[in-house]
Amino acid sequence: MRVAIVAGTRPEVVKLAPVRAALAASAGFDPIWISTEQQAALNRQTLTTLGIDPDLSLVPPDNLGSLGARFAHVMGQLDEAYEACAPDLVIVQGDTSSTAAGAMAAFARRIPVAHVEAGLRTFDLASPFPEEGWRCVVGQLADLHFAPTGFAAANLHRQGVRDDRVFVTGNTGVDSVRLTAAGITAEPLTAGLRRIMVTLHRRENWGEALDHVLGALLDIRDHVPDVEIVFVAHANPALRQRVFAMLEGQPRIRIVGPLEYPDFLSLLKSCVAILSDSGGVQEEAPVFGVPVLILRESTERMEAVTAGVARLVGVSRHGVAAAACLLLTNEDERHKMSKALSPFGDGYASERIADILTRQYAQGLAVDPVERLNAG
Ligand code: UDP
Repeated sequence: MRVAIVAGTRPEVVKLAPVRAALAASAGFDPIWISTEQQAALNRQTLTTLGIDPDLSLVPPDNLGSLGARFAHVMGQLDEAYEACAPDLVIVQGDTSSTAAGAMAAFARRIPVAHVEAGLRTFDLASPFPEEGWRCVVGQLADLHFAPTGFAAANLHRQGVRDDRVFVTGNTGVDSVRLTAAGITAEPLTAGLRRIMVTLHRRENWGEALDHVLGALLDIRDHVPDVEIVFVAHANPALRQRVFAMLEGQPRIRIVGPLEYPDFLSLLKSCVAILSDSGGVQEEAPVFGVPVLILRESTERMEAVTAGVARLVGVSRHGVAAAACLLLTNEDERHKMSKALSPFGDGYASERIADILTRQYAQGLAVDPVERLNAG
């Protein structure tokens, strides 16, 4: 069974690496890694760290082009890649342009699609944009939906996806943490200080929100005398410029990153809390018992909030500073969050996915996705 795995961004690499490993360890699968190079530098850094040498690397899109032009570029190249390697199944993950292009190019060739991390929704096409739209498209076209939680599976049912096409597996990002974190120790603390980590990179936070959050970090530092703030900066040059302009040289604030994945986990392990708009980080932090304050107005991971491992705090300067100061000065609250149970699975989602695929193909099910979707 030739299985094309399509990935082009850091989170896709992190979350599909264990799926590739589980398929390679199961009899009957020949995984082929197709790298779309959507996030050229971060994608490469993560592939190298996780020891993945792509079978096929596409020519990176011109980052100056429009979203539509970049999308078309990736679609065209994926179509050629599928022609060349003739996969029996295409696996995509999450909600990036690579995810949607990977699914659409496969659908056009009547190749079945399996979607890992299926069913996440904010039900607001504007936020996050374009990710909410991309995952809705993939939700319509995929033949198999691997939902990380029951909550995500319920979203798919609500959108008319057939019950027997949806499987609750856990999140494969937790598998990556399990596989990587075994040999990882927490980064040593600066004497006498508690550490919080901050990441902020999503498109909806590129404008004023970034300045508000950076201002809030100064307020948190001023109100909590024993806190050290480590800002893990993204590769995006415009974001970096503003982060450095406002935080560089500030006492008890450090700017690092982008970090290699194991170094990121080691830093995360050393923190008492994390402030982040990242999707993957919301799933990883609870593994280490690190409470997450989500720097967004809405999240497609509400189960984390319901479970008590995360709180949605928005991006206003006052709101972020107040929520962080409360958490840092109320140890009972922090303890409650850090002990809450993660809803994102036990770290064996990829093995479940490999088992399900084995059974599906033994039953000869996913042969022509168009007929199947019509039948549904
Ligand atoms: N990550 C990393 N180095 C960093 C920051 C994040 O390896 O400096 C990892 C992190 O552990 C997680 C993933 O990148 O697995 C999250 O990616 P990102 O925040 O870029 O995207 P999102 O999850 O929001 O789609």
